[in-house]
Amino acid sequence: MFRRGESIQIKSPDQLAVMRQAGLVVALALQAVSAAVRPGVSTRELDAIARECIASNGATSSFLGYHGFPAVICTSVNDEVVHGIPGDRVLDDGDLISIDCGAIVDGWHGDAAVSVPVGAVADSVLALSAATQASLWAGLRQARAGNRLSDIGHAVELSLTAAGDYGIVEEYTGHGIGTSMHMHPSIPNYGKPGKGPVLKIGMALAIEPMATLGSAGVGVLPDGWTVVALDGAPAAHWEHTVAITETGPWVLTALDEVRLGPREPR
Ligand code: MG
Ligand code: MG
Repeated sequence: MFRRGESIQIKSPDQLAVMRQAGLVVALALQAVSAAVRPGVSTRELDAIARECIASNGATSSFLGYHGFPAVICTSVNDEVVHGIPGDRVLDDGDLISIDCGAIVDGWHGDAAVSVPVGAVADSVLALSAATQASLWAGLRQARAGNRLSDIGHAVELSLTAAGDYGIVEEYTGHGIGTSMHMHPSIPNYGKPGKGPVLKIGMALAIEPMATLGSAGVGVLPDGWTVVALDGAPAAHWEHTVAITETGPWVLTALDEVRLGPREPR
């Protein structure tokens, strides 16, 4: 899984500061889109809000035109896990929508996703989303110099399995990020700790757990993009871009300044 010989891009403090600007644009776009989520809104309308936010903040989209992707956000509703294409779909009361957004400032990328309830959502689905979000933060806390890459996925898996009987999607992973959106290495959301490359100051990673209320199997719809749970169960997806710094993990796509600080006692 961890191929030798491929290096993980190292950023200078100045470069990470630009990535923070890109991450902040992503955070602002996700905030604006999340605020517009309600029964009756179309996913195309949500995409328009993100476009306006990215443009008005002087950034460009990481997603638009990526392998032909036609929008600036991915909108994945209910059993759609990731990579849903905004369009005519109108949100219903009780839906859970994952919104994924990427932005570029001066050539540097930020990438993050949130899952947002539409109106009154079943408690089981809200619990799935909360557990997936908590597992993201468990992973983020492992993004520190001296750890091994697989410590992140291990922490995500431990967090999710402790929270409930959820399907942890294995076919899609987090990734390195910097001058491209998707860079080496891949970051699975499961696995044994202590494997893979040693994490170093200046690396930036996008961590993105995807979990379902059913089994973990997924497939791709005929549109070539939308990833769905094969058993039709609802899915949640949360993502942040994080930098590994001298003082600990720096969450580049958080709306507020979030530096996680020194390692917590075990
Ligand atoms: Mg993303
Ligand atoms: Mg990503």
